[in-house]
Amino acid sequence: MNALDKPSAYALRCARMVERLRLMGIKSEHVLDAMHRTPRHLFVEEALRSRAYDDLSLPLGAGQTISQPYTVAKMTELLCGDALQMPRKVLEIGTGCGYQTAVLERAGIHEIYSIERIRDLHEIAKRNLRAARCVRSRLKCGDGYLGLPVAAPFAGIIVTAAPKEVPLALLNQLAVGGRMVLPLDEGGKQFLWLIEKLPDGFRETCIQEANFVPLVNGSRD
Ligand code: SAH
Repeated sequence: MNALDKPSAYALRCARMVERLRLMGIKSEHVLDAMHRTPRHLFVEEALRSRAYDDLSLPLGAGQTISQPYTVAKMTELLCGDALQMPRKVLEIGTGCGYQTAVLERAGIHEIYSIERIRDLHEIAKRNLRAARCVRSRLKCGDGYLGLPVAAPFAGIIVTAAPKEVPLALLNQLAVGGRMVLPLDEGGKQFLWLIEKLPDGFRETCIQEANFVPLVNGSRD
């Protein structure tokens, strides 16, 4: 066992990461606590584990990346609001290694569905989530552009890859009163958006610049 394999070494790094997130502006204690209780080192390749708690996005394989901790925390905060208005049923598009999925579980979301289009990553995410003892999420391999009509409507939808336009199927599968968090690629520049579905339309709020891999539109491949 090398020194970094000791749980305490990761625990210290994780606690420092959470303090950094607080300084960077993450306010929800609920989200900070979920980040604290999610073992990020179990979601990155062994060779990268020493960097797992740095505020970096890291390669996942298959040309994809695990989002940096700040981005995961910010998106979770936008999706969850405060602990009292947490969505009960959430759809994630772009499982990747499963880290964001695990944070949603640790935040206490009751019912989570997550879709990944690359089968190898879908399998890796299943393994990682089992290792982190996250057993409630339901993972699907398929095209997230289409959402998951059989399980709709969702109180929350989180998209962790950037489309050029909001996929219509996802807007349709969002419950009234629900919140969608997604990056949009606007002519090469990306921004993170919060879209709330109101009884009489949508409220769209631009949050900040973003940097995600593209959401691949399966039907146009
Ligand atoms: N949520 C991950 C981020 C993964 S990166 C994390 O916690 O780090 C984004 C992922 O979206 C990639 O794995 C990519 O393969 C996936 N993706 C891209 N287009 C997709 C689509 N149409 N349907 C489902 N997954 C897609």
